[in-house]
Amino acid sequence: MKFKVSSLRGARVLVTGASSGIGEQMAYHYARFGAQIVITARREKVTEKCLSLGAQKALFISGDMSTESDPDKVVDFALEKLGGLDYLVLNHIGVTRFAVWDGDVDHVKWLMKPNFFSYIQMAWRALPSLEKSKGSMVIVSSMAGKLSNPFTAPYCSTKSALNGFFGALSHELAMKKSNVSISLITLGLIDTESALNAVRGIITTPAYPATEAALNIIVTGATRQLELYYPWYTYVMNLFKDWYPPLTNHLIQNALNYDP
Ligand code: NDP
Repeated sequence: MKFKVSSLRGARVLVTGASSGIGEQMAYHYARFGAQIVITARREKVTEKCLSLGAQKALFISGDMSTESDPDKVVDFALEKLGGLDYLVLNHIGVTRFAVWDGDVDHVKWLMKPNFFSYIQMAWRALPSLEKSKGSMVIVSSMAGKLSNPFTAPYCSTKSALNGFFGALSHELAMKKSNVSISLITLGLIDTESALNAVRGIITTPAYPATEAALNIIVTGATRQLELYYPWYTYVMNLFKDWYPPLTNHLIQNALNYDP
């Protein structure tokens, strides 16, 4: 399916985690394409700029995705204000440390709430509307969901859970000939402030631009592709991890500056 910019004019989109980083850049791209956007995060930062860039609508609702009620509240707001949804773009993550696992089980339990449970809650809530509109879910995951990385054990767990869940849901929707597509996004290191702050001095591999990552994610959703690997090396690493695990492990461990 070829990407048509015009397909996003007036499209009804909910983007989560849109106050910074890749989510913010996605909100700006959707705005330039003339979409109607509901933006959510805990902080309100981008609505006005979205309107100035050409969004038909740009509405903000604050939501804390680590709570039980806010995921549903946010989807209900979008459904009511936009009269339905064409795209559900799940992108937010809770704050976690880039550090050696220290045994904090409570943190893993907590991180599952924003990074995983809120995703499945929102997807389920939005599904009937997406069925009606022949819509799409876009799930922003990570290379960490495909391949474990050191210093990110809680984060890797949540992203693997996302890949497992939405992979299964994607099969089920296809088998019942649903109208809804799911695009699973595998990202490598992207130059957002939070990611760069976390890995500074530890990872030396280059970070790719958030605005380009955001555009690739949007095109993947709009063309109903099952997966995106961005940047290119994430695809190669995903292939290599099963072909020759010792080499992959060597590359991962030696890409990090670590002195115990
Ligand atoms: P950022 O840290 O820049 O943005 C995270 C967003 O989530 C912010 O808008 C933040 O807004 C929001 N957020 C944080 N906590 C909560 C909460 N409790 N409830 C609701 N919203 C919350 O992240 P990135 O842009 O770097 O990452 C975006 C996505 O891309 C994530 O899914 C990440 O896993 C994935 N990714 C990123 C990579 C990278 O290198 N950057 C690599 C691989 C994957 P606020 O604080 O206002 O709530």
